[in-house]
Amino acid sequence: MSEIVQKEKEMEKIKQEILQCKKCSLYKTRHKPVIGEGNLDAKIMFVGEAPGFNEDRKGRPFVGSAGRVLDELLTSVGIKREEVYITNVVKCRPTTPSLENRSPSAEEIKACSPYLERQIRIIQPEIICTLGNYSTNFIFEKYGMGDKIEGISKLHGKIFEVKTLFHATKIIPFYHPAVAVYNPKEKEILLKDFKILKDLL
Ligand code: URA
Ligand code: SF4
Repeated sequence: MSEIVQKEKEMEKIKQEILQCKKCSLYKTRHKPVIGEGNLDAKIMFVGEAPGFNEDRKGRPFVGSAGRVLDELLTSVGIKREEVYITNVVKCRPTTPSLENRSPSAEEIKACSPYLERQIRIIQPEIICTLGNYSTNFIFEKYGMGDKIEGISKLHGKIFEVKTLFHATKIIPFYHPAVAVYNPKEKEILLKDFKILKDLL
């Protein structure tokens, strides 16, 4: 079996597991889990936090206002969405009792993140771009850099390198695109930080 067919098969298995997953209580309120999408041979993998309202309805990552910012950022450095792989730490939308978006809890991250870890093993990206504090902290812990965790305002736009099973992987934290939706200053910082990707490719 060719490598890409093998990757598609493994990703499909993860998808089927997530569609039936009840490992945390978020399955009760989700409409559609957001598995992730993109190129299974991507050099760059983007890891967000969790689906929001629009993602939960469509079953696709970053398709709401934060997604429009992410699209703009990718376009600014000449990267196509289809070239990269985009997913989240948590696959179902976290909501408050009044059905607002909220950040995922530590338990939800613990229950769900093994799916992300398997996705990383399949894709074997050269660069993992973490979006916001939650995904940055998770990825830093996973790669033994827990001691380097600081707020995203300190870590954004810096390149960290870790040795993995496959090769050296770069980890680059960014502000979460959602912060730039109503904040031109944060958008400027994101646009500047994204230039790193252009230089690396
Ligand atoms: N915010 C995220 O972290 N992920 C999405 O998919 C959408 C918004
Ligand atoms: Fe399962 Fe993750 Fe959805 Fe929780 S958020 S039900 S662990 S897929």
